[in-house]
Amino acid sequence: MRINGRLLAPISLAVVLATAACGLSTPASGQAENPPSGSTAQSSERSPGDTPTSSPTPEIPADAQIPTRAAGTFTTATGTGRVIGAGKTRVRYSVSVEKGIAWGDIPAWKPDRFAASIEQVLAAPNGWATSAQHPVTNAAVDLTRASWSFQRVSTSKVDVDVRLATPRTVDRLCGASGVDTEGVYSCKYGKTIMINLRRWLHCSPGYPVSIDEYHAGVINHEFGHFLGFAHMKCGGRGKPGPVMMTQTMDLGGCLPNVSPFVGNGQFVSGPWAPS
Ligand SMILES: [Zn+2]
Repeated sequence: MRINGRLLAPISLAVVLATAACGLSTPASGQAENPPSGSTAQSSERSPGDTPTSSPTPEIPADAQIPTRAAGTFTTATGTGRVIGAGKTRVRYSVSVEKGIAWGDIPAWKPDRFAASIEQVLAAPNGWATSAQHPVTNAAVDLTRASWSFQRVSTSKVDVDVRLATPRTVDRLCGASGVDTEGVYSCKYGKTIMINLRRWLHCSPGYPVSIDEYHAGVINHEFGHFLGFAHMKCGGRGKPGPVMMTQTMDLGGCLPNVSPFVGNGQFVSGPWAPS
């Protein structure tokens, strides 16, 4: 199966809408949210040397504050996670964060925190683990009653490593596999999923979901590539978008949907996309 290098992509539309939408979420840590509007304006008012006098550091910084480069090497979360789901095929994954990120005022996304976010996505209702109750059959990708369970491990022998990295490192590593991530996209190649730090912290402009939902969407999408899926198109105007759509680029008439399954356990599918 040749699904290396599929993108979950974004790009720019209504920046104001995106800022508001991403600001809806409550971060897992319970810290301050993204300012509901005008994060760009706020950053322009505060020079790097200023010391905030009262309010806590925003959990989600302005885009300009997000580091674009770091060491290009990774620290892997230690320990072993719980088994998520009862699907037949056990996916053993590790979670890593790029070393050398100059976090500045930004609360650091350490490996264990990134790992907790991923585990939360994989264990959520309608995530890939739902396949245990609703196995997936899809001839186009040679799947017959497929189901998966997941467990985070910290050994080097894993099925897939999920990496949070600066845009430049994502571009370099994805680019080496022939995927142009353009400073904003995430990708999957070989046994690696690369998650773009900028989008992880700041969502995708114009994609009307909360940042927690964005996290679910990008993780479910890239794990979907790992499980064998290529991109899909919208299955019909007004329907939930397949998680394997590049929804951040174009919803194609579909409703935003960040999970592979919907409420009744139905796998959300659509026509295969050419790329
Ligand atoms: Zn993709």
